[in-house]
Amino acid sequence: MLFHANIIPLTGTALIPHGTCYLWKPSLVGLHSVSNGAIALAYAAISLTLIQVFRKRPDLPFNWLLILFASFILFCGISHAIDIWTLWHPDYWFAGGILALTAWFSLGTATATIALFPQVITFPSPQQMAEKNRQLQKVNGELQKERQFLQALLGSLSDGIIACDAEGVLTLFNQATQTWHGLPQKTITAEEWSQYYSLYRTDGKTPLPKEEIPLFRAFQGETVRDEQIAIVTQEGEARIVLANGTPILLPTGEKVGAVVAIRDITEIRKTEAALKESEERWQLVLEGTGDGIFDWNIITGETFISPQFKANLGYRDEEMENTYEGWESRVHPDDLEEVLERIQDNFAGRLPQYTAEYRMRCKDGTYKWILAKGIDRRDEAGNPLRMVGSLQDITRRKYTETALKESLERDRVIAENSSDLIATQTLDGIYLYISPACRSLLGYEPEQMVGRSLFEFLHPEDATALQKTQTLIHQLPERYTHSYRMRRHDGSYTWLETTHKISRYSTDENQQLIVSISRDITARKQAEVAIVTLNQELEQELDDRKSRLKNINRLYRSVLNNVREVIFQTDKTGRWTFLSPAWESITGFGIEESLNKPFIDCVYSEKDQQRIHTLFRDLILEKRPAWRYEFRSPTKHGNFRWLEIYMRLNLDGESKSHFGAYGTINDITERKQAEAILKARADELAKQQRQIELQNLQLQEASRLKSQFLATMSHELRTPMNAIMGFSQMLQTQQYGELTQRQQDMVSRIFNNSQNLLMMLNEVLDFSKLEAGGIEPNPESFDLGKFLHLTVEELRSLADNKQLSLRVNLDLPHPIITSDQNCLRRVLVNLVSNAIKFTNTGGIKVSAKEMDNEQIVISVEDTGIGIDTQDLGTIFQAFRQVDQTLTRQHSGTGLGLAITKSLVEMIDGTIHVESQVGEGSVFRVRLPKSATPP
Ligand code: ADP
Repeated sequence: MLFHANIIPLTGTALIPHGTCYLWKPSLVGLHSVSNGAIALAYAAISLTLIQVFRKRPDLPFNWLLILFASFILFCGISHAIDIWTLWHPDYWFAGGILALTAWFSLGTATATIALFPQVITFPSPQQMAEKNRQLQKVNGELQKERQFLQALLGSLSDGIIACDAEGVLTLFNQATQTWHGLPQKTITAEEWSQYYSLYRTDGKTPLPKEEIPLFRAFQGETVRDEQIAIVTQEGEARIVLANGTPILLPTGEKVGAVVAIRDITEIRKTEAALKESEERWQLVLEGTGDGIFDWNIITGETFISPQFKANLGYRDEEMENTYEGWESRVHPDDLEEVLERIQDNFAGRLPQYTAEYRMRCKDGTYKWILAKGIDRRDEAGNPLRMVGSLQDITRRKYTETALKESLERDRVIAENSSDLIATQTLDGIYLYISPACRSLLGYEPEQMVGRSLFEFLHPEDATALQKTQTLIHQLPERYTHSYRMRRHDGSYTWLETTHKISRYSTDENQQLIVSISRDITARKQAEVAIVTLNQELEQELDDRKSRLKNINRLYRSVLNNVREVIFQTDKTGRWTFLSPAWESITGFGIEESLNKPFIDCVYSEKDQQRIHTLFRDLILEKRPAWRYEFRSPTKHGNFRWLEIYMRLNLDGESKSHFGAYGTINDITERKQAEAILKARADELAKQQRQIELQNLQLQEASRLKSQFLATMSHELRTPMNAIMGFSQMLQTQQYGELTQRQQDMVSRIFNNSQNLLMMLNEVLDFSKLEAGGIEPNPESFDLGKFLHLTVEELRSLADNKQLSLRVNLDLPHPIITSDQNCLRRVLVNLVSNAIKFTNTGGIKVSAKEMDNEQIVISVEDTGIGIDTQDLGTIFQAFRQVDQTLTRQHSGTGLGLAITKSLVEMIDGTIHVESQVGEGSVFRVRLPKSATPP
């Protein structure tokens, strides 16, 4: 009611509600209410839908009509809603107003619809629409695809694409551009571009003003062509880009935006620079090497050959025509066929690349070797169109190759004929080649060794060492030498000295080889072993000698220190350079104070000094090798010593030059004193000698007188002795009266004693004569054999008396000798008589033997009493008898052997005796076969 009361004042009228007409019948009121409500809702929904269509499809033709329809339907819906309101509220003015509005919109809509009718009926039918729609969708799909493709294209384009719309808002920003700039964060106008993007002039430093930005210029209507600018990317990297821009204009001329394509030419720039550099380098290389290039147009025959290559052949550029013929005419005729064949092989696909070596004629008529390489370009059908390649002057290489071939051949001949073992091995020692010398050095055939490893043949001890070396092979010098033993085929070992050379002709390790030359050094090794042994022996010897030398040195020192002799050295000027310690003890002067002083200072008298000076000078001048001199020398104590100096030249053993003198000094003072005493004694002796000589003369005279007296006396005595003997013999004959037995005995004794006395007198006389030199030998030739027999026979009766045998034994091939027969007879008689006299049993043997052509030995041998050794020396002296007692058994004067000796000596002989007491004696007389005449 409150609601109702409020309405009424608004309307200001008092009408009845519409429900009243329906009598407030609930069903009728309900029917109207619900129907009107449903219609209102439906109309509102349709209106809203139409508005929605209008909004969503601005493209529909006459879509404003939809708004009209929507308004008209909406007002219709409101009218129905008001109808519900007026059931209870009689606001008919309000309802009428709404209705009027609805009418207005309906009329307007109807008018418009009618006006548009002719056009609307031309609208396609739904089928047509569907068909159109389908086509449209198809086109749409294609457009969509194309759009996606374009977007993908734009995305994948390395060029950056930026576009803006008519307002200058950036509408397209492809992937490449995003990588440079990043996505735009907000809508920015063309005016602000220069602030948001890092764009610079090509120097990369000067920021690009807004007016110069290509998109801005295109947006302003300008067409931008190949404009270079620099962009600093989000990563801070400067890129040089080429921008092309254009405004987007509708056919009507309306400007709807602008687009710019940006190409990053940084790499191109770099490549261009590199290419330029490379071209320059290539050009330089071509110029430097003299190599050239060619470009042969196979179709036209035009053949470009680089000028520097022509120059290499001696041609100026224009002198060698740029045609195929220009080239062909200069190829050596002998090579041309093969070159053309190779070109054809390349064209025919048999060779992937054209390569040929041939000679080309130079301007001066000589030929140069060329290495040509080329590749061809073909058309689609595979026909060659063009060939481009290089020309290289390989003349030097060709000559080197020829020389190399010759050298290799020479090497092969040398290797095959060398007595050294020449081999090629891989780095791990496998023989690739081995020279025939392996037969003589190792006993293998070359093919038995090739393919096998050096280590198979090595002595185990050497293999280890060599293996170590091999592991260091890359550090080794190019050439190195080893000695090792290799096993021969017969199992023995040969020492080889091998020089290895690594041929580093390639950096590829597998292609490196070792060339080796081995020489048999077995003999040298054996010699080395011998030398080592010898060396050891020598060292031992050296050690021994050193120790001996040490001992000698020690000895020498002690000798020097202890010897009483001074040992000295002087230089060439005669100054002491060395003095042994004895110097000080002899002279009293210290060695140090004496050294370097002239040695002549130690000589006292001027005469000696002069003499010694001369001697020393002669020594130094090598006129005499050594000298000795005795002189008096003053001592430090003020007295004198007699010294004897002996000096020799001090010669260098090798150079034979001398460096002064050396020698000894002896203190001869005592000797000199002894000599003085001796001299005094000698003088005394000489005096005595003279006296003795005088006495001797006197004695000789006395002896001569004695001999003379004896001779005279015995001579004188012999006469009365002969008378005594003669008369006593006469008495014995009893012619002058009978004699009693006693008288006969007495006369007989007188006779015997007289006979003995006479014999003694004769001997004394002989001796005296010999002593006085009164007998001269009288040599004559006679037969010694006969002589001996005769003489012995004269004495046989004496032997027989004593019943002794008497034999003669001769060994005389040449019995004739020359001697004094009388002397010899007396010698023999004396010796045989003595033998008989001093022999009681046994016998006597007389023998003679010829010793040589010169001498004869006569011996008288008995078996008698013999002679004591102590008497042997005296029996040849006068009056000497072994038994000198008065009771002796054997008579004699003791002169017999003395006379015998004198007689033997007179005939140039000698006499000796050998005897032993009780055994017998042998007297031997040695005589010259031919006595020297007096
Ligand atoms: P004598 O007249 O004494 O024989 P000799 O001069 O002939 O003198 O001999 C000297 C001494 O030599 C003898 O007295 C004797 O002792 C000794 N004598 C000499 N001949 C022999 C001999 N054949 N056998 C032993 N003694 C001998």
